[in-house]
Amino acid sequence: MKGKITIALAGNPNSGKTTLFNALTGSNQFVGNWPGVTVEKKEGKIRGRDYITVQDLPGIYSLSPYTAEEVITRNYLVHESPDLIINIVDGSNLERNLYLTTQLLELNIPVVVALNFMDAVNKNGDKINIKALAQKLHCPVVGISALKKEGLEELIRLSVETAKKNTQQALFSFEQKIEQALSYIQNIKIPNIPKEKSRWYSIKLLEKDEKIMEELSLSGDKKEMLWNIIKDIEKTYDDEAESIITDERYTHIAKILEGSYKRANRQETVSDKIDKVLTNRWLALPIFAGIMTLMYYIAIYGLGTIVTDWTNETLFGEYIIANTVEVMTNAGAAPWLVSLVSDGILAGVAAPLGFVPQMALVFLFLALLQGSGYMARVAFIMDRLFRRFGLSGKSFLSFFVSSGCGVPGIMATRTIENRRDRDMTMITTTAIPCSAKLPVIAMISAFTMGGAWWVAPLVYFTSIAVAIMASVIMKKTKLFSGEPAPFVMELPEYRLPNLQGVLRETWIKISAYIKRAGTIIFAMCVLMWFLGSFGFQDGQFGMVESSDSFLAIIGGAISFIFIPLGFGNWQAVAATFAGFTAKEAIGTTMNILAGLGEVDGFVEGGRLFYLSFFPTNMVAMSFLMFNLFNTPCLAAVSVLYREISSKKLFWFAILLQNLGAYAISLVIYQLIGLALGEVGFSIMTVVAAAVLLLILYMLFRKERTPQARPALYGGVN
Ligand code: GDP
Ligand code: MG
Repeated sequence: MKGKITIALAGNPNSGKTTLFNALTGSNQFVGNWPGVTVEKKEGKIRGRDYITVQDLPGIYSLSPYTAEEVITRNYLVHESPDLIINIVDGSNLERNLYLTTQLLELNIPVVVALNFMDAVNKNGDKINIKALAQKLHCPVVGISALKKEGLEELIRLSVETAKKNTQQALFSFEQKIEQALSYIQNIKIPNIPKEKSRWYSIKLLEKDEKIMEELSLSGDKKEMLWNIIKDIEKTYDDEAESIITDERYTHIAKILEGSYKRANRQETVSDKIDKVLTNRWLALPIFAGIMTLMYYIAIYGLGTIVTDWTNETLFGEYIIANTVEVMTNAGAAPWLVSLVSDGILAGVAAPLGFVPQMALVFLFLALLQGSGYMARVAFIMDRLFRRFGLSGKSFLSFFVSSGCGVPGIMATRTIENRRDRDMTMITTTAIPCSAKLPVIAMISAFTMGGAWWVAPLVYFTSIAVAIMASVIMKKTKLFSGEPAPFVMELPEYRLPNLQGVLRETWIKISAYIKRAGTIIFAMCVLMWFLGSFGFQDGQFGMVESSDSFLAIIGGAISFIFIPLGFGNWQAVAATFAGFTAKEAIGTTMNILAGLGEVDGFVEGGRLFYLSFFPTNMVAMSFLMFNLFNTPCLAAVSVLYREISSKKLFWFAILLQNLGAYAISLVIYQLIGLALGEVGFSIMTVVAAAVLLLILYMLFRKERTPQARPALYGGVN
């Protein structure tokens, strides 16, 4: 048997690492045409060559990390020394990508450069002399197209060969004075530096890399010696040490590219032309709003409804549930069992399952938008807007991911450089309606304001607004103030999304959704049915009228809290609490509670629940808003707990989310309700008005921090 080999894929964001990883391993990791998709490393084995393990790492621009995901990559490369690094380089963006290459070559790990996007390079008419490039870089270079699966065999062959040789990489030298400084640093003899990485550590120390200094915990006198060396070199060059090194690297790259690279004259590409419209200063936001509205319209009111109505009413209501009841009753099943199956499980699980067609449409839309490259533009557009409020466009990327699911949404904050901004985004990002909240939005907006089509999109935009406003308010507090890091992101070319990939992505998400219905939602159904059907009557435990059930007692005991919000009945409270485990459970519980005792003949749960417990439009809206903005589901909460900076901040987040949700619902029910003539004037009106004023004050008060600097728009106006 051949020895085992571990290969790490390292490269800039969006250079095709995941595409290559999938092609090599036959894996199904999601390829998004925008940076920040891979925020955790993933592992796989090369197809047909089990002895080679490949690691897909988060994208990095350099080995000086600013974001949590960059730290993951650097730590992996430095501390877990793989046998080989395949440095994947975007051949259509050579100079920028080689910046990382120069640093990888200092790690004393064999490197093979996979020159990706060769199909695009050839199409553009750029000329790259691969042989010359390899000679100048002192490491093997292979031209590939990860997308078209070209050159992969050669890449694997060369990688195995290079890993086996494991020869010391020839490094390029900096200017003499810098080299001298580096050798002085090596002479300090700092403990804990692995010998084979001493050059790399010296460079990092010269650059004053804080994390490395922390890691090595230098003693006082060694630190002073180091500072003296750095001070010296900064005086000589009259520049910051870090920028001296950066300049040197780019000078060296220019030399490497001389004679090995010729860029064809660029004409305005199709992408440029599309961008003139889509990222236009005035049109960008309306176009984005239009696209999202259209998506919600089609998914919730158009195509989606037809199929969903059919699954909900005909398939589940008339067919499955009615027939099950009949068959079970005829077979002589105990009434409680019939009730469990029809009122509990079928009615409950029907709610999320009935929405599968709508969910599939939404997932399909999002995958298309992501795959085409449009979402990267949206991040820019939003950054333009966000920066005015001192927020970064990266917060928006996390918001966007959260529209699928809050768990990866929270994970996506790892791309945010600034710790406080990251924490803040984690707290607000789950305000964006995730796929599990969608059925709840659909169920409730179907009856609100006479079921007008604009209710669901309005709820969606309100959610974005709430997430942004909450961020702005938090940003103005001392805890989170500070300028956001500049937003640097490569804009990928627009591409026709790969149909297979889009369908696969949609399927992965929809099957996860169905799985949830079969597991956690199923369990919730049984629990809710039990609590809603059983209780004590005359001191006897058994099945009771739902108004005497455990659920009614527990829910009733706390329902007073929600009277000011308009939904102080135990049923709505029970649905809300069910939502803390998983948001689909809200609709599920509504269905179960509406159907309890209606064993013969399934009722359309949402409508019946609505008619019984939401006497006015604003009661429904207040209920919906409270459930959209309060604590997210258990899964998201546990990720929040893990990712947020401190335990204190975690509890602060939970408190803030629930208080915020309460405040919003209070304002909606009391004030909009009053305006619509649905509620009368009372002391609560005054309280709600005061809350609204407080929110507005916190939103518009003067900033603590100086006006944020404009973003670095990589090429976009
Ligand atoms: P990562 O961020 O480095 O993991 O990059 P991805 O693998 O997600 O790829 C980013 C985008 O580049 C996707 O739209 C891919 O389809 C596209 N892509 C990747 N490799 C190639 C290639 O060789 N040629 C072309 N034309 N596109 C590619
Ligand atoms: Mg990736």
